[in-house]
Amino acid sequence: MAKHPVPHQKTCRSRSKTRHSAFQKITRKKLTDVAKTVKCANCGLAKRPHYTCENCGMYRGRQVIKFKMPGEKKDVQKIKV
Ligand SMILES: [Zn+2]
Repeated sequence: MAKHPVPHQKTCRSRSKTRHSAFQKITRKKLTDVAKTVKCANCGLAKRPHYTCENCGMYRGRQVIKFKMPGEKKDVQKIKV
């Protein structure tokens, strides 16, 4: 007689595949979908790391995106650096 826990029955392929797909759907998605944010140095709002701030348009201390001022035509204008 075995002294350690032994599975009563072999786990069939479909059962283990179902378990793995459930893991992928829930746990793995939770781990990958979490977006990390950092504080913007200019305005202090939360922004994605290594991305331009969507509030003020600054990236690493310089203006990268110019936002619409009253009376201008375009909404967002990229500035060539
Ligand atoms: Zn900002």
